[in-house]
Amino acid sequence: MERWGEKRYYSLDYFLKQTYGEKLYKITLNANLTCPNRDGAVGTGGCIFCSGQGSGDFAGCPEDSIAVQLAKGKADLNGKRPVHSYIAYFQAFTNTYAPVDKLESLYNEAIADPDVKILSIATRPDCLGEEVLALLSRINKRTPVWVELGLQTIHPDSASYIRRGYPLSVFDEAVRNLRGIGVTVIVHTILFLPGETKEQMLQTIAYLNHMDIQGIKLQLLHILKGTDLASDFLANPFHVPDMEEYVELLGECISHLSPRTVIHRLTGDGPKELLIAPLWTGRKRTVLNTLEHCLKEKDIWQGKEYHG
Ligand code: SF4
Repeated sequence: MERWGEKRYYSLDYFLKQTYGEKLYKITLNANLTCPNRDGAVGTGGCIFCSGQGSGDFAGCPEDSIAVQLAKGKADLNGKRPVHSYIAYFQAFTNTYAPVDKLESLYNEAIADPDVKILSIATRPDCLGEEVLALLSRINKRTPVWVELGLQTIHPDSASYIRRGYPLSVFDEAVRNLRGIGVTVIVHTILFLPGETKEQMLQTIAYLNHMDIQGIKLQLLHILKGTDLASDFLANPFHVPDMEEYVELLGECISHLSPRTVIHRLTGDGPKELLIAPLWTGRKRTVLNTLEHCLKEKDIWQGKEYHG
């Protein structure tokens, strides 16, 4: 059985400690951008689950400059524990969707801070044109760049239901292009999309095992107030797992996931004031403890069922 420190899976904490000798803390940033799935370029309604904050509900204040958001984020973190190194995480909306000179100035503002060791950029795979790739390549030579791609699922029916707005081939090409310039790729997936079976979710994991990606975020679908997903759910409730069912599925995903892929997230918590379901996700520590227990009891580790 492989082990990553105390864990049965390759956690982000483990990766960071091995690579940087310490834990790095994320500061989530809001660059006040928009998204082609909202401004009409691809769609106007956005992804069906996306809150008005563009999936950046915990990000900094968009009225503040990036430098100010970083300073506030550092002060918050340092109030709780001594922190020396950070990941500047452009989280809200689509962070490669703006004129390249504007992007360059935003990214430069973040990496000008010597405590920022990694620049992490959440975006859509259809917003990585040549000029953006050239910019990311330049920045990556100074500070490691991570690009986080919101794939969510490989299945076209689910992708259409959530109004993702691009086909799988666009994701494939984006991963190839990013890897061509040496950028680290992290993929966001959503578990328990309406109608998806366990087999389908594991097919997404199996597909990603054969892509040149370095990290994955596994996240349970959150139903947030004010989204079209919430309207669908309230009109016609679909299955939402309880914690035990979610943890069991997570165990299966971990078992099937390549042992080389770093797991950046296993659960998430939507903003309390917006979350309709599943409400138990607010108890993050309990979810992770239950997962540890489940992995041990079933003798599961990352890659146990992965056969190259
Ligand atoms: S791509 Fe991201 S920001 Fe845009 S609508 Fe979808 S989840 Fe929201």
